[in-house]
This record gives sequence, C-alpha cells and structure tokens, in this order.
Amino acid sequence: MRADAVIAELRALQSLRPVLDAVTALSGPYEGVYLVGGTVRDLLLGERGFDVDIAVEGDAIAFAESLALALGGRVRTHRTFGTAAVFYGDGGRVDVVTARTESYHAPAVLPSVEHAGIHDDLFRRDFTINAMAVSLRPDDLGQLVDPFGGRADLEARRLRVLHPRSFVDDPTRIFRAVRYENRLGFRMDDETLRLAHDSVGTGHVGDLSRARLREELIALFGEGHVDHTIVRIHELGLDEAVHPHLAADAETVELLRRLTALDDEYELGVPSWRLGFAVLARRLPPEEVLDWLRSLKLRRRDAELIAAAVTVGPRLAASLGEADPAEVVALADPFAPDAPLFALALADLEPLRDYFGRLRGVRLEVTGRDLAGLGVAESPRVGEILAELRRRKLNGELAGRDEELAAARELIG
Ligand code: ATP
Repeated sequence: MRADAVIAELRALQSLRPVLDAVTALSGPYEGVYLVGGTVRDLLLGERGFDVDIAVEGDAIAFAESLALALGGRVRTHRTFGTAAVFYGDGGRVDVVTARTESYHAPAVLPSVEHAGIHDDLFRRDFTINAMAVSLRPDDLGQLVDPFGGRADLEARRLRVLHPRSFVDDPTRIFRAVRYENRLGFRMDDETLRLAHDSVGTGHVGDLSRARLREELIALFGEGHVDHTIVRIHELGLDEAVHPHLAADAETVELLRRLTALDDEYELGVPSWRLGFAVLARRLPPEEVLDWLRSLKLRRRDAELIAAAVTVGPRLAASLGEADPAEVVALADPFAPDAPLFALALADLEPLRDYFGRLRGVRLEVTGRDLAGLGVAESPRVGEILAELRRRKLNGELAGRDEELAAARELIG
C-alpha cells in the first residue's frame, strides 16, 4: 500500500474519522504529530482492529488534553513518562506519547529518556516494521517516515532489529520477535536471529526483572495458536533461560492444542496464557512449581490454578478412570477448572468428559431453607445433609425436588 493510501485507508474507517480530523486540526502548534509503531504496521498490512498510537514532537500531554476536549472524551496522563491515553465515545482509545530518545546504561534494565524528534523516537523501537510513522499534520498529511526500511521488511515479511545492541539493551524484544513471528508469520532475518541467539547465550534474559518476564510470557501465550512460539522459544534457548526445566517440545505443542480445544469445547474460558504456563511448567519438580509461579509475581489465584493443573492434573488422569460421578466431582471440583481440564487433555476419560459436560452443573433443588423447614437448626449438620444429597443426586439416585425432600427427611430421621 502506498503511504498516501494509508491516510485514505484510515479515513475510510468511519469510526476513526473524527479522531483523525481532530488530530490534524490540533496539530498546528506542534513540530510534528505522527501515527506511529504498530498502528502504521497494521494499517500497511490491511488490518482493521488496531490501537491508535500517536507520537507528538512537543508536549504530548497538552496535545492529549486538547484532543480529549475536542472529542468530548477524557484523558489519563502519566506525566513522568510524558504519555497520555484519550478515551472517547463508545470504547475508543488513542495513546499519545512525547517523541523521545532512550539511553540504556546496563543490559536488560529500563532506559533513561529524553524528548527528541521523530527519527530518534523511531530509533528507540524494536523492529523496522514497528519503526515507521505517518504524518498527521495538514502540511504533509500522509507522508510516511521510514528511515530503516520497515516497508520493504513488511513486504518481505521480515523482522529486523535497528542496531546490533538491540537485544542486549532489551531482551524482552526477543520475546516480542517470537510473538510477531507467530502472529504474523514473519521471520527474523539471519542477522537478527544471530543477535537473538547471542543475547540469550550471554544470559541477558536472566537479567530481566521478574515482572517484565511475566508480562512477556503472558503476552506470548495469550495469543491463541502458539505452535510456532513453542518451537521457536526452544530453538532460541529461551525456555532454558527462563527456567532449566521448562518443557517446550513437540509434546508441549500437542498438549496445548488439546487443552485449547477442550477449553473451547466446554466453554470454560480459561485464559490461553494460563494453559500455556501449565504445559511449560509441567516438568518442573512438583514442589518447585508454585515457587516459580510466585517468583514471577502472578496473581495468587492464577498461580494456584496453574500449579494445580501441573501437580494434581496427572493424578486425576491416573485415578478417575473407575470413579463414580460423586467421587469425580469431589476430587475435581476443588481444583477446577484447570486441573481436571489438564487431566482430560492427558487422558480422554469418560468420567472427566461427564464432569465438564454435565456434573459440574448439577445443583440440588432443595436448599438450607428447606432443611430449616424440616426442623434442622442452623449448624454444620445442614452442610452435611446437603453434601450427602448432592452425592446421591450426582450418582443418579435422586430425580427432582420431591425425591430430594424425601431423602432429606430420611437423613434427618
Ligand atoms: P501489538 O500491541 O499488536 O502487539 P504493537 O506494535 O502495538 O503490537 P505495543 O506493545 O503496543 O505493540 O507497543 C507499541 C509500539 O512501541 C511498538 O510498535 C514498538 O514500536 C514500540 N515498543 C514496544 N515495546 C518495545 C520494546 N520493548 N522495545 C522497543 N520498542 C518497543
């Protein structure tokens, strides 16, 4: 697509028209106002649902405030970083940053930043395909700024870093490269691949903060189909750099595919990154799984569910073949849905299919209030009776409210 066609394309997106018109109208006092980064990449690729990222040569916060006013929206500012987000209409969002340059003082540590022009701003970015800008000022509207050959790389479906120290400065870019490879079907060129290997080999991934590592892993495995990602992190040695016992092999690919398919089939809504963490972590010594997940500062509930999938899942797969429905529920429910799902992906057992297809939704029709009506005082006995009723119902011994009440009377008696 030609650069001027980019603007035509943008304007054709009716929902963005008012935003672009407002941005252009407000841009007069600023040195430069540009559409940047992934927005330009996705537009050139003909994508539709993308974020709008704008870089301003000048005060991005003042610009964002005027934009919010013009759109009748609101603005959230981060003054320390010189960035702002404008929220408008029904879920619309525009991110505005001050064009800046970054200097890295140590490998893998966040850089210090200074205001700069658009060329410097593009130079701080990860790959050439993300280092293009399109002017939104009226005098050169639609002009493409492409100092590093990003457009040619887009056409060649190639990921290329902007300079040889890129992965040393910021090893999260290696994870980003794998994510783009997987999502777009692009590939790193030979030099970029070599630099990635060098950076991993030199141990820079280990220097990343746990929080940044966690965010990259979540982004990597949050993308749905990640067959290529798994193969690639192993080829690059990223798996071992993250933890010596991570499993990223053909079996991991297969297991994750099964987990994803089952998660969809039973509409469980387990986030795909959590499934990814479980398959990766499944060969860690069981007593280390939770510690590792906690070291990444995952939310406690997420860490526990993943750890249960890895440690309890195989036990469920081995023990539920002959269990009756009530036993299946008793064993699976405390770790649901991740651990029984993991078990089902390991062994396609009928009791587990029954658990997700039916048993999980079985509810009693009688309640504690009914038991009170039958004269049972509020006490642990209420819970015990309800549990026994549910056990019988799960095993098909009770059908309907009347039978449940009759069984309750018998138990009370
Ligand atoms: P997507 O959100 O679709 O994954 P994106 O390109 O919008 O893609 P973001 O993570 O939102 O990705 O980042 C926005 C832009 O910021 C990128 O296009 C890239 O130019 C730049 N960027 C993000 N992270 C880095 C990084 N670690 N190093 C250098 N540049 C980065």
